[in-house]
Amino acid sequence: MSDSTLHPRRAGRGSHADTSTPSTPHPQQTGSACEDAQASTRTLRLTEVFVSLQGETSRVGLPTVFIRLAGCPLRCRWCDTPYSFQGGETVTLTALLAQVAAFGVSTVCVTGGEPLAQKNCLPLLSALCDAGYSVSLETSGALDVSKVDPRVSRIVDIKAPDSGEAARNRWENIAHLTPQDEIKFVLANRADYDWAREVIHAQKLAQVSPVLFSPVQGELPPASLAEWILADRLPVRLQLQLHKVLWGNTPGK
Ligand code: SF4
Repeated sequence: MSDSTLHPRRAGRGSHADTSTPSTPHPQQTGSACEDAQASTRTLRLTEVFVSLQGETSRVGLPTVFIRLAGCPLRCRWCDTPYSFQGGETVTLTALLAQVAAFGVSTVCVTGGEPLAQKNCLPLLSALCDAGYSVSLETSGALDVSKVDPRVSRIVDIKAPDSGEAARNRWENIAHLTPQDEIKFVLANRADYDWAREVIHAQKLAQVSPVLFSPVQGELPPASLAEWILADRLPVRLQLQLHKVLWGNTPGK
């Protein structure tokens, strides 16, 4: 799951971070023989895997390995990862876990595209949790999140009208969310904001999970969104893209 507000840099597949931690898990050492056999035959379509700082959510600023799975059934107007829509490299779950381990970072974010569009995303998430990683999932909100391993923090989008994909919102997902999950709105203009505010009130979303508001870069000035939130005393968190604040659009950061 990605959009014009969240675009962690590609550090290059197989590159290594200098942020290793002593407690970094080693997935290959944790599975049973049966689990290892399953992992060696399960495959995923992978766009990229890289390390960066998490740019958003309550994990903002943490060194994080990003697994970007290929494919997405949506076409948000402002999406900035259309390169994930097609193609991708086919990798086994075993090989992917080894790639993640090589980065030496204990926090992992599975994103896309729409990661849940691949059936083996669910076993990937569980395998990462079993290996001891702190795992988050970024999803469009259009697919069922109820089968996701409960150890995973689900970052679930609710698509606002200007995305062009509001009809895809799977409202049933809200009943499955908990305070360890997060609900994210990407907003392009005042009409999107007004719509999101009504949804929050109608669905009592602030009582379900933390709610995040992100402005579409280049369309909605962050200061305007901040003023609206303050004027309405809205119980949401404004979030910007930390990595762009730090490095602009420099590749590999
Ligand atoms: S749901 Fe798909 S189209 Fe929409 S922002 Fe995410 S990756 Fe892009």
